[in-house]
Amino acid sequence: MKVTEHIKNANEKTQFSFEILPPLKGQNITSIFEGIDPLMEFKPPFIDVTYHREEYVYKEREDGLLQKKVVRKRPGTVGICAAIQNKYNVDAIPHILCGGFTKEDTENFLIDLGFLGIDNVMALRGDAVKSETYFTPERDGHAYAGELVSQISALNNGLYLDDEILNTTPTNFGIGVAGYPEKHLEAPSLDSDIHFLKKKIEKGATYIVTQMFFDNAKYFQFVEKCRAAGITVPIIPGLKPIATKKQLNLIPHRFSVELPDSLIKEIIKCKDNRGVREVGIEWCIAQSKELLAKGAPILHYYSMGKSDNIRTIASAVF
Ligand code: FAD
Repeated sequence: MKVTEHIKNANEKTQFSFEILPPLKGQNITSIFEGIDPLMEFKPPFIDVTYHREEYVYKEREDGLLQKKVVRKRPGTVGICAAIQNKYNVDAIPHILCGGFTKEDTENFLIDLGFLGIDNVMALRGDAVKSETYFTPERDGHAYAGELVSQISALNNGLYLDDEILNTTPTNFGIGVAGYPEKHLEAPSLDSDIHFLKKKIEKGATYIVTQMFFDNAKYFQFVEKCRAAGITVPIIPGLKPIATKKQLNLIPHRFSVELPDSLIKEIIKCKDNRGVREVGIEWCIAQSKELLAKGAPILHYYSMGKSDNIRTIASAVF
Protein backbone atom coordinates (compact mmCIF):
# COMPACT_ATOMS: atom_id res chain seq x y z
CA MET A 1 0.00 0.00 0.00
CA LYS A 2 1.16 3.53 -0.72
CA VAL A 3 2.36 5.66 2.21
CA THR A 4 -0.27 8.27 1.38
CA GLU A 5 -2.98 5.61 1.80
CA HIS A 6 -1.45 4.49 5.11
CA ILE A 7 -1.65 8.09 6.27
CA LYS A 8 -5.32 8.32 5.30
CA ASN A 9 -5.97 5.11 7.25
CA ALA A 10 -4.08 6.46 10.25
CA ASN A 11 -6.97 8.73 11.17
CA GLU A 12 -8.42 6.38 13.76
CA LYS A 13 -5.13 5.50 15.45
CA THR A 14 -2.07 7.57 14.70
CA GLN A 15 0.75 5.32 13.72
CA PHE A 16 4.51 5.38 13.52
CA SER A 17 7.03 3.98 11.10
CA PHE A 18 10.72 3.46 11.58
CA GLU A 19 13.94 3.16 9.66
CA ILE A 20 16.57 0.43 9.84
CA LEU A 21 20.07 0.00 8.41
CA PRO A 22 21.24 -3.18 6.68
CA PRO A 23 23.75 -5.04 8.88
CA LEU A 24 27.46 -4.69 8.25
CA LYS A 25 28.66 -7.04 5.52
CA GLY A 26 29.26 -10.48 6.98
CA GLN A 27 26.53 -10.23 9.64
CA ASN A 28 23.32 -12.19 9.71
CA ILE A 29 19.82 -10.88 8.88
CA THR A 30 18.67 -12.14 12.30
CA SER A 31 19.94 -8.87 13.81
CA ILE A 32 17.42 -7.08 11.57
CA PHE A 33 14.56 -9.29 12.71
CA GLU A 34 15.60 -8.88 16.37
CA GLY A 35 15.34 -5.13 15.88
CA ILE A 36 11.91 -5.31 14.22
CA ASP A 37 10.21 -8.01 16.36
CA PRO A 38 9.70 -5.88 19.52
CA LEU A 39 8.02 -3.12 17.47
CA MET A 40 5.56 -5.25 15.50
CA GLU A 41 2.89 -5.22 18.22
CA PHE A 42 2.42 -1.50 17.42
CA LYS A 43 1.51 -2.42 13.84
CA PRO A 44 3.85 -0.04 12.01
CA PRO A 45 2.39 0.68 8.57
CA PHE A 46 5.78 0.63 6.86
CA ILE A 47 9.46 0.15 7.58
CA ASP A 48 12.21 2.02 5.72
CA VAL A 49 15.50 0.35 4.83
CA THR A 50 18.41 2.70 4.14
CA TYR A 51 20.77 2.34 1.18
CA HIS A 52 24.52 2.57 1.63
CA ARG A 53 26.62 3.26 -1.41
CA GLU A 54 30.16 2.16 -2.05
CA GLU A 55 33.18 3.88 -0.55
CA TYR A 56 36.58 4.04 -2.20
CA VAL A 57 39.55 2.91 -0.17
CA TYR A 58 43.08 3.54 -1.38
CA LYS A 59 45.69 0.98 -0.29
CA GLU A 60 49.39 1.11 -0.97
CA ARG A 61 50.61 -1.85 -3.02
CA GLU A 62 54.01 -3.50 -2.58
CA ASP A 63 55.34 -1.53 -5.57
CA GLY A 64 54.34 1.72 -3.85
CA LEU A 65 51.44 2.54 -6.17
CA LEU A 66 48.01 3.23 -4.74
CA GLN A 67 45.34 0.67 -5.46
CA LYS A 68 41.71 1.77 -5.47
CA LYS A 69 39.40 -0.67 -3.75
CA VAL A 70 35.61 -0.38 -3.85
CA VAL A 71 33.94 -1.33 -0.58
CA ARG A 72 30.26 -1.52 0.31
CA LYS A 73 29.92 -1.90 4.04
CA ARG A 74 26.16 -2.37 4.25
CA PRO A 75 24.79 -4.08 1.15
CA GLY A 76 21.45 -5.89 1.21
CA THR A 77 18.77 -3.18 1.09
CA VAL A 78 16.64 -4.93 -1.52
CA GLY A 79 16.99 -8.39 0.03
CA ILE A 80 16.06 -7.04 3.47
CA CYS A 81 12.97 -5.31 2.03
CA ALA A 82 11.85 -8.56 0.41
CA ALA A 83 12.49 -10.50 3.63
CA ILE A 84 10.55 -7.95 5.73
CA GLN A 85 7.52 -8.01 3.42
CA ASN A 86 7.60 -11.79 3.40
CA LYS A 87 8.02 -12.28 7.16
CA TYR A 88 5.86 -9.49 8.58
CA ASN A 89 3.45 -8.66 5.77
CA VAL A 90 4.23 -4.97 6.22
CA ASP A 91 5.31 -2.51 3.52
CA ALA A 92 9.07 -2.18 3.28
CA ILE A 93 10.43 0.99 1.70
CA PRO A 94 13.89 0.83 0.16
CA HIS A 95 15.90 4.03 -0.09
CA ILE A 96 17.32 4.61 -3.54
CA LEU A 97 20.17 7.00 -4.28
CA CYS A 98 21.51 9.04 -7.18
CA GLY A 99 25.06 8.42 -5.92
CA GLY A 100 26.70 5.36 -7.44
CA PHE A 101 23.83 4.70 -9.86
CA THR A 102 23.68 5.31 -13.59
CA LYS A 103 20.19 5.87 -14.99
CA GLU A 104 20.33 2.33 -16.37
CA ASP A 105 21.26 0.95 -12.90
CA THR A 106 18.33 2.89 -11.45
CA GLU A 107 15.91 1.49 -14.01
CA ASN A 108 17.06 -2.07 -13.34
CA PHE A 109 16.89 -1.51 -9.56
CA LEU A 110 13.30 -0.27 -9.92
CA ILE A 111 12.36 -3.26 -12.08
CA ASP A 112 13.59 -5.57 -9.30
CA LEU A 113 11.60 -3.63 -6.71
CA GLY A 114 8.45 -3.77 -8.83
CA PHE A 115 8.77 -7.53 -9.24
CA LEU A 116 9.19 -7.90 -5.48
CA GLY A 117 5.90 -6.12 -4.81
CA ILE A 118 7.46 -3.00 -3.31
CA ASP A 119 4.90 -0.15 -3.40
CA ASN A 120 7.01 2.83 -2.30
CA VAL A 121 10.56 4.09 -2.67
CA MET A 122 12.39 6.88 -0.89
CA ALA A 123 14.30 8.88 -3.53
CA LEU A 124 17.50 10.54 -2.30
CA ARG A 125 20.61 12.06 -3.72
CA GLY A 126 23.03 10.55 -1.20
CA ASP A 127 26.08 12.25 0.25
CA ALA A 128 29.55 12.71 -1.17
CA VAL A 129 31.73 9.67 -0.53
CA LYS A 130 34.60 10.21 1.94
CA SER A 131 37.16 10.72 -0.82
CA GLU A 132 35.08 13.55 -2.41
CA THR A 133 34.57 17.14 -1.23
CA TYR A 134 31.29 17.52 -3.10
CA PHE A 135 28.76 15.00 -4.25
CA THR A 136 29.65 13.75 -7.73
CA PRO A 137 27.05 11.89 -9.78
CA GLU A 138 27.90 8.93 -12.01
CA ARG A 139 28.70 9.96 -15.58
CA ASP A 140 25.22 8.92 -16.71
CA GLY A 141 23.53 9.35 -13.36
CA HIS A 142 21.47 11.96 -11.54
CA ALA A 143 22.91 15.03 -9.81
CA TYR A 144 19.85 15.76 -7.65
CA ALA A 145 17.07 13.74 -6.07
CA GLY A 146 14.56 15.66 -8.24
CA GLU A 147 16.02 14.05 -11.37
CA LEU A 148 15.69 10.64 -9.76
CA VAL A 149 12.06 11.40 -8.92
CA SER A 150 11.49 12.28 -12.60
CA GLN A 151 12.91 8.93 -13.71
CA ILE A 152 10.71 7.00 -11.25
CA SER A 153 7.66 9.02 -12.38
CA ALA A 154 8.49 8.26 -16.02
CA LEU A 155 8.59 4.54 -15.23
CA ASN A 156 5.27 4.95 -13.40
CA ASN A 157 4.00 6.13 -16.79
CA GLY A 158 5.52 3.12 -18.55
CA LEU A 159 8.40 5.12 -20.06
CA TYR A 160 11.72 3.30 -20.09
CA LEU A 161 15.09 4.84 -21.00
CA ASP A 162 15.02 2.92 -24.27
CA ASP A 163 11.98 4.39 -26.01
CA GLU A 164 11.86 1.39 -28.32
CA ILE A 165 10.50 -0.70 -25.44
CA LEU A 166 6.79 -0.58 -26.22
CA ASN A 167 3.56 -1.90 -24.68
CA THR A 168 5.03 -1.67 -21.21
CA THR A 169 3.26 -2.19 -17.90
CA PRO A 170 3.81 0.99 -15.87
CA THR A 171 5.31 0.63 -12.41
CA ASN A 172 3.29 2.11 -9.57
CA PHE A 173 5.62 3.44 -6.89
CA GLY A 174 4.66 5.96 -4.25
CA ILE A 175 7.65 8.30 -4.02
CA GLY A 176 9.00 9.78 -0.80
CA VAL A 177 11.66 12.51 -0.62
CA ALA A 178 13.71 14.12 2.14
CA GLY A 179 12.95 17.52 3.69
CA TYR A 180 15.14 19.50 6.07
CA PRO A 181 13.46 21.67 8.76
CA GLU A 182 16.89 23.20 9.51
CA LYS A 183 17.81 23.29 5.79
CA HIS A 184 20.14 20.93 3.99
CA LEU A 185 23.82 21.47 4.76
CA GLU A 186 24.63 22.67 1.23
CA ALA A 187 21.57 24.87 0.72
CA PRO A 188 22.28 28.62 0.88
CA SER A 189 18.97 29.23 2.69
CA LEU A 190 15.87 27.41 3.90
CA ASP A 191 13.82 29.20 1.22
CA SER A 192 16.11 27.91 -1.52
CA ASP A 193 15.95 24.38 -0.09
CA ILE A 194 12.13 24.53 0.02
CA HIS A 195 12.13 25.81 -3.57
CA PHE A 196 13.93 22.62 -4.69
CA LEU A 197 11.80 20.48 -2.37
CA LYS A 198 8.74 21.80 -4.19
CA LYS A 199 10.33 20.80 -7.51
CA LYS A 200 10.67 17.23 -6.19
CA ILE A 201 6.94 17.22 -5.44
CA GLU A 202 6.07 18.68 -8.84
CA LYS A 203 8.09 15.88 -10.44
CA GLY A 204 5.97 13.25 -8.72
CA ALA A 205 6.97 12.78 -5.06
CA THR A 206 3.92 12.17 -2.91
CA TYR A 207 5.24 12.58 0.63
CA ILE A 208 8.15 14.05 2.56
CA VAL A 209 10.07 12.58 5.50
CA THR A 210 12.10 15.11 7.46
CA GLN A 211 15.62 14.98 8.70
CA MET A 212 15.72 14.46 12.47
CA PHE A 213 15.12 17.55 14.62
CA PHE A 214 15.07 18.06 18.38
CA ASP A 215 13.06 21.26 18.61
CA ASN A 216 9.48 20.83 17.41
CA ALA A 217 9.22 24.55 16.67
CA LYS A 218 11.61 23.95 13.76
CA TYR A 219 9.26 21.34 12.29
CA PHE A 220 6.15 23.48 12.71
CA GLN A 221 7.86 26.49 11.08
CA PHE A 222 9.09 24.27 8.24
CA VAL A 223 5.60 22.87 7.60
CA GLU A 224 4.21 26.41 7.62
CA LYS A 225 6.81 27.58 5.09
CA CYS A 226 6.24 24.53 2.87
CA ARG A 227 2.48 25.11 2.89
CA ALA A 228 3.01 28.80 2.08
CA ALA A 229 5.22 27.72 -0.84
CA GLY A 230 2.40 25.53 -2.18
CA ILE A 231 3.63 22.11 -0.98
CA THR A 232 0.53 20.17 0.01
CA VAL A 233 1.79 16.58 0.48
CA PRO A 234 2.14 14.98 3.95
CA ILE A 235 5.30 15.99 5.83
CA ILE A 236 6.27 13.14 8.16
CA PRO A 237 8.47 14.22 11.09
CA GLY A 238 11.67 12.21 11.62
CA LEU A 239 12.70 11.66 15.26
CA LYS A 240 15.74 10.18 16.89
CA PRO A 241 16.19 9.55 20.60
CA ILE A 242 19.70 10.49 21.70
CA ALA A 243 21.39 7.55 23.42
CA THR A 244 25.03 8.43 24.03
CA LYS A 245 27.13 11.43 25.09
CA LYS A 246 29.16 11.07 21.91
CA GLN A 247 26.05 11.96 19.90
CA LEU A 248 26.15 15.48 21.39
CA ASN A 249 28.93 16.26 18.91
CA LEU A 250 28.23 13.65 16.29
CA ILE A 251 24.57 14.46 15.51
CA PRO A 252 24.93 18.21 14.83
CA HIS A 253 28.07 17.55 12.80
CA ARG A 254 26.77 14.65 10.72
CA PHE A 255 23.18 15.78 10.19
CA SER A 256 23.59 19.54 10.34
CA VAL A 257 20.95 20.01 13.03
CA GLU A 258 20.97 21.95 16.31
CA LEU A 259 20.38 20.48 19.75
CA PRO A 260 18.40 22.73 22.11
CA ASP A 261 20.43 24.10 25.06
CA SER A 262 18.11 22.52 27.61
CA LEU A 263 18.63 19.07 26.05
CA ILE A 264 22.41 19.57 25.99
CA LYS A 265 22.39 20.59 29.67
CA GLU A 266 20.36 17.52 30.66
CA ILE A 267 22.73 15.23 28.79
CA ILE A 268 25.87 16.82 30.21
CA LYS A 269 24.49 16.28 33.73
CA CYS A 270 24.24 12.49 33.12
CA LYS A 271 26.89 10.33 34.77
CA ASP A 272 26.80 7.63 32.11
CA ASN A 273 25.09 6.62 28.87
CA ARG A 274 22.32 4.86 30.76
CA GLY A 275 21.28 8.29 32.02
CA VAL A 276 21.68 9.82 28.55
CA ARG A 277 19.45 7.15 27.11
CA GLU A 278 16.72 7.99 29.65
CA VAL A 279 16.98 11.71 28.87
CA GLY A 280 16.83 10.91 25.13
CA ILE A 281 13.72 8.77 25.60
CA GLU A 282 11.93 11.38 27.72
CA TRP A 283 12.77 14.12 25.21
CA CYS A 284 11.54 12.02 22.31
CA ILE A 285 8.31 11.12 24.14
CA ALA A 286 7.61 14.81 24.75
CA GLN A 287 8.38 15.65 21.09
CA SER A 288 6.17 12.79 19.87
CA LYS A 289 3.20 13.76 22.05
CA GLU A 290 3.31 17.39 20.98
CA LEU A 291 3.69 16.51 17.28
CA LEU A 292 0.68 14.20 17.41
CA ALA A 293 -1.40 16.69 19.38
CA LYS A 294 -0.67 19.32 16.74
CA GLY A 295 -1.61 17.10 13.82
CA ALA A 296 1.55 15.37 12.51
CA PRO A 297 0.35 12.71 10.05
CA ILE A 298 2.50 9.82 11.31
CA LEU A 299 5.80 9.73 13.24
CA HIS A 300 8.97 8.28 11.78
CA TYR A 301 11.67 7.05 14.17
CA TYR A 302 15.29 6.66 13.21
CA SER A 303 15.85 3.42 15.11
CA MET A 304 19.30 2.68 13.62
CA GLY A 305 18.51 -0.99 14.30
CA LYS A 306 18.16 -0.52 18.08
CA SER A 307 14.53 -0.90 18.94
CA ASP A 308 14.54 -1.02 22.74
CA ASN A 309 14.36 2.76 23.20
CA ILE A 310 11.81 3.12 20.34
CA ARG A 311 9.69 0.49 22.08
CA THR A 312 9.77 2.42 25.36
CA ILE A 313 8.82 5.62 23.51
CA ALA A 314 6.02 3.94 21.55
CA SER A 315 4.61 2.37 24.73
CA ALA A 316 4.38 5.83 26.31
CA VAL A 317 2.98 7.59 23.23
CA PHE A 318 0.61 5.17 21.44
P1 FAD B 1 18.53 16.80 -2.99
O1 FAD B 1 17.07 16.94 -2.85
O2 FAD B 1 19.08 16.53 -4.34
O3 FAD B 1 19.19 18.14 -2.40
C1 FAD B 1 20.59 18.22 -2.19
C2 FAD B 1 21.00 19.69 -2.15
O4 FAD B 1 20.91 20.26 -3.45
C3 FAD B 1 20.12 20.58 -1.26
O5 FAD B 1 20.94 21.56 -0.70
C4 FAD B 1 19.12 21.19 -2.24
O6 FAD B 1 18.64 22.45 -1.80
C5 FAD B 1 19.96 21.33 -3.50
N1 FAD B 1 19.23 21.13 -4.75
C6 FAD B 1 18.25 20.23 -5.00
N2 FAD B 1 17.89 20.28 -6.30
C7 FAD B 1 18.67 21.22 -6.89
C8 FAD B 1 18.78 21.73 -8.22
N3 FAD B 1 18.03 21.26 -9.20
N4 FAD B 1 19.71 22.70 -8.46
C9 FAD B 1 20.51 23.19 -7.46
N5 FAD B 1 20.44 22.73 -6.17
C10 FAD B 1 19.53 21.77 -5.90
N6 FAD B 1 21.60 8.94 2.59
C11 FAD B 1 22.02 7.72 2.17
O7 FAD B 1 23.16 7.60 1.68
N7 FAD B 1 21.21 6.61 2.30
C12 FAD B 1 19.97 6.68 2.82
O8 FAD B 1 19.29 5.66 2.93
C13 FAD B 1 19.51 7.95 3.28
N8 FAD B 1 18.25 8.10 3.80
C14 FAD B 1 17.81 9.35 4.17
C15 FAD B 1 16.50 9.49 4.66
C16 FAD B 1 16.02 10.73 5.06
C17 FAD B 1 14.61 10.87 5.57
C18 FAD B 1 16.87 11.88 4.99
C19 FAD B 1 16.38 13.21 5.45
C20 FAD B 1 18.16 11.74 4.49
C21 FAD B 1 18.65 10.49 4.07
N9 FAD B 1 19.93 10.32 3.55
C22 FAD B 1 20.37 9.08 3.13
C23 FAD B 1 20.85 11.47 3.46
C24 FAD B 1 20.75 12.21 2.10
O9 FAD B 1 21.20 11.37 1.06
C25 FAD B 1 21.61 13.47 2.20
O10 FAD B 1 21.06 14.38 3.11
C26 FAD B 1 21.97 14.15 0.89
O11 FAD B 1 23.03 15.05 1.14
C27 FAD B 1 20.84 14.95 0.22
O12 FAD B 1 19.87 14.13 -0.27
P2 FAD B 1 18.50 14.78 -0.87
O13 FAD B 1 17.75 13.66 -1.44
O14 FAD B 1 17.87 15.62 0.14
O15 FAD B 1 19.14 15.68 -2.04
